[in-house]
Amino acid sequence: MVDLHNHTPLCNHAQGKPQEYIKNAIKKGIKIYGFADHAPMEFDKKYRMSFNDMKNYENEINSLKKQYKDKIKILLGYEVDFTPTKYLDKRVLTADVDYLIGSVHFLDNWGFDNPEFIKEWEDRDVDDVYKEYFEYIEKMASSKLFQIVGHIDLVKVFGHKPKKNIKDIAKNAIKAIKKANMAVEINTAGLRKPVKELYPSDELLEMIIDEGIDITLSSDAHSPEQVGFGYEVALEKLKKFSVNKLVYFEKKQKHYIDV
Ligand code: ZN
Ligand code: FE
Ligand code: FE
Ligand code: ZN
Repeated sequence: MVDLHNHTPLCNHAQGKPQEYIKNAIKKGIKIYGFADHAPMEFDKKYRMSFNDMKNYENEINSLKKQYKDKIKILLGYEVDFTPTKYLDKRVLTADVDYLIGSVHFLDNWGFDNPEFIKEWEDRDVDDVYKEYFEYIEKMASSKLFQIVGHIDLVKVFGHKPKKNIKDIAKNAIKAIKKANMAVEINTAGLRKPVKELYPSDELLEMIIDEGIDITLSSDAHSPEQVGFGYEVALEKLKKFSVNKLVYFEKKQKHYIDV
């Protein structure tokens, strides 16, 4: 099993030591385990590590990588906000890591997935928000700066659903993901959010698989107990869609593991 998207307390909104995450991953039979903490940027600083923390983070995970190498493969990454471009930072984009997850948590300056700013949804047209969100995903993919698309339909987090067909809304984004040779994660964090669904939805997953895009798996754990969270549901989904291999990245190169 694979779990490539996990946080550490450096982002100021996760609990537990990296070592405790790893111990739980081993207990749950995870073979390939990646940290992808929220990368620093000059915006929304409250919910991420600082630029000064980068070296500590990378050194700590790299030393755990060595320490645990006989028990589990540890990988090092960042979850990077695509906002779209003004806050992208060279220090993050050129960091010596195994992979970068590209995520959209902001539409312009609106943190649409943050309960703090949920009120803004009342003033927005849901279809417009979806359209804008998937345009960001498309731009993120087209930038070719990232290996994995983070929680591809995060926009549904609070349960808002578009009137228009999601397949039409997401079509160009999915084409761009394929073109960029990126992978999409099945992220179980949605199961613990108001929407109570995996990211992506079945409709999107079907499109992604039809397009021949590689799939990976993640729990987006913000505490050690969340490692491998909801994997029974995710494994059922893999079976339903006949996905029999998962992708992971080492030094930005693709590798596959059988499910
Ligand atoms: Zn987070
Ligand atoms: Fe995220
Ligand atoms: Fe995350
Ligand atoms: Zn995330």
